[in-house]
Amino acid sequence: MEYLRNLQTSITALNGVGPSAKEAYAELGIATYSNLLLLSPRTWEDRSQIQPLSHLSDGQMANTLVQVLSHSYFGLKTGKKRTLKILVRDVSGSGEGRLSLLCFGRNFLEKTIKIGRIYYLYGAVTSHRGELQCSQFELYPATEDGDWPKQFGKILPIYPLRGSLSQRLIRANMQAILAGVDRFADELTPSMNERLNLMSTDQAIRTYHFPKSIEELQHARRTLAFSELFYLQLVARRHKGLAQRLAPKGPSIPTKLELKCIERLPFSLTTDQLASLKEIRQDLDSELPMNRLLQGDVGSGKTLVAWISALHVLSQGGQAAFMAPTELLARQHAESGFALLSELGIRLAFLTGSVKNKERKLLLEAIRQGEVDIVIGTHALFSAEVVFKNLRYVIIDEQHRFGVEQRLALLGKAQVPDLLLMTATPIPRTLSLTVFGNLNVSTLKTMPVGRKPVITHLVNEQSRKRMYQAVGVEFKRGHQAYFVYPRIDDSGESELRDVQTMFEFLKTEYPSVPSALMHSKLDEETKVSILKQYQAGTLAYLVSTSVVEVGIDIPNATCMVIEHADRFGLSALHQLRGRVGRSSLQSYCFLVFGDALTEEAKQRLKVMKESNDGFSIAEQDLMIRGPGEIAGTKQSGYLKLAYASLSDDLPLIELARDEADRILSEDPGLLKAEHEPIRTTLAIAPPFDEEHGEG
Ligand code: ADP
Ligand code: MG
Repeated sequence: MEYLRNLQTSITALNGVGPSAKEAYAELGIATYSNLLLLSPRTWEDRSQIQPLSHLSDGQMANTLVQVLSHSYFGLKTGKKRTLKILVRDVSGSGEGRLSLLCFGRNFLEKTIKIGRIYYLYGAVTSHRGELQCSQFELYPATEDGDWPKQFGKILPIYPLRGSLSQRLIRANMQAILAGVDRFADELTPSMNERLNLMSTDQAIRTYHFPKSIEELQHARRTLAFSELFYLQLVARRHKGLAQRLAPKGPSIPTKLELKCIERLPFSLTTDQLASLKEIRQDLDSELPMNRLLQGDVGSGKTLVAWISALHVLSQGGQAAFMAPTELLARQHAESGFALLSELGIRLAFLTGSVKNKERKLLLEAIRQGEVDIVIGTHALFSAEVVFKNLRYVIIDEQHRFGVEQRLALLGKAQVPDLLLMTATPIPRTLSLTVFGNLNVSTLKTMPVGRKPVITHLVNEQSRKRMYQAVGVEFKRGHQAYFVYPRIDDSGESELRDVQTMFEFLKTEYPSVPSALMHSKLDEETKVSILKQYQAGTLAYLVSTSVVEVGIDIPNATCMVIEHADRFGLSALHQLRGRVGRSSLQSYCFLVFGDALTEEAKQRLKVMKESNDGFSIAEQDLMIRGPGEIAGTKQSGYLKLAYASLSDDLPLIELARDEADRILSEDPGLLKAEHEPIRTTLAIAPPFDEEHGEG
């Protein structure tokens, strides 16, 4: 018995694999027998159905038994330019069809393809002046008694090719490996196979490469994909399983400070906010460090949850750090933090690169002495000079903007603090169940009451004028707007509208309406002062690059105009749109686009127009772009799934999760006899191991 993923023999042991094939295989990442077995066909060619010649039209595949009627030549009479033409008739059914095989460069076939004999033919036909022809074909002699030859009736795998590799070689190599293994060990238990209607691993891998029918192929793929996902979940759950056993029993109780803070709010928390707070509290009280993602659409109230949860560690004498991706955002968080917490006697401090000299020294000293409870800042909080007395809790806003390395640097700071990552780019369910399998997730789905969904308009050049009018009406109502462009100025040859030019233009469109420019080249102080004026309402609109994308919270802003919207990705568009619709006022988003739209851009705009739900948008994003592009997952080199698809296999992912949960809850150590196959597979050659998990 062999394990599918444990065949270490070099492929050079196979017939036909010399230095050049070895090199070509290496390009596909294949060095061993197991590597080759795990190579997925791009597709399969279905030769299982007869295609009689009489039913064929141009471009279709002939797949039938034929009898050779005659040989003839066409083309120039002289020299080697003459080409053999073999006329055949169909003998599979009624025997009506006729076809000419054009043997370019293969006149030698005259000797081997005998008149009167029966062959199996496979090839693409063209129709030429009423005559069916075929120049790329395969012919195999039928057996003596007129039976189909062995090539017929198969569904053949089509593999990705590199260098000198051919389908014929890969198939032969694959078959040789499969023939050399008596039986592959099962990766799952017999009872799982039966209950979940899966094949044995042995049958599945053989069928996957050389299926007898499409149904069988689907069954085999489902089996292999399930197995892969199941082990992914097992690995993820082993971390959690440990966490659960160490966790204190009974609910965690909110502290007086937390209750007081909640009481003083002018509104009530949503049910999801309450549920998330409870989950976080339990993690904070557990002995193991928390590793939790708080995801929720823009404006769902994540920041508030973060502040309240921080109070939980403060009453135990700990400190908290709250980090934002930009100085602007950090400042805004600091302000919301001060407003919410300073009256409760919490000591907050703001630390970014722009806090300098004496002020900085004093601040650092206070943090070291434990005279500061919560520090709010940017990545400056990572630097070695910042030493905490007792850092217990780290909150990171918009986690995908922080590199993995920075997160690790932070973790090195104290004795592994509890970590809460917040993201407004919701992670699709398929990813949160797999990639982030070892991360606990809290989700804010319910929005604060009274919010109206933003109305999104798609705007082309013809309707531009109407858009300016609509925004003008909002100004008259005392509301505010953002105008976003992809470029700062007009340098270069680009056709794109830019912030500088449009700033001037909009002044003529809205004379006497106060506005300001906003972009990354402004210094920090200018940005802050502009934002303050905008917040106070002395500026009616900002003309900006996408720097306003994240976090800015101005409830009175009701219009978001995004030019060249087709240039932005879905998650950026959704973030930008999230800057409006932050109160009970009706808000609008205008997505302006040019005429030369790519198919993908069209799809994106359509998704934006039709959906306000960040979760569904993130799912669509995954469909359009594929999982490799999703923020934050690319650099971690994840998702090396051979069979399962993150965009199509959600039901299977859920099934795998349920199975992993069920098995681990009844047998956490996988010690029962019936779980032996899982225990051994995990030990010897798991379909998914910890090396693939998040480090
Ligand atoms: P997020 O961080 O998810 O984008 P915030 O926490 O910044 O959301 O909240 C957005 C706005 O909604 C803030 O002005 C906040 O005070 C307000 N808010 C938060 N929770 C509620 C609630 N339960 N009811 C009403 N308003 C809320
Ligand atoms: Mg936020």
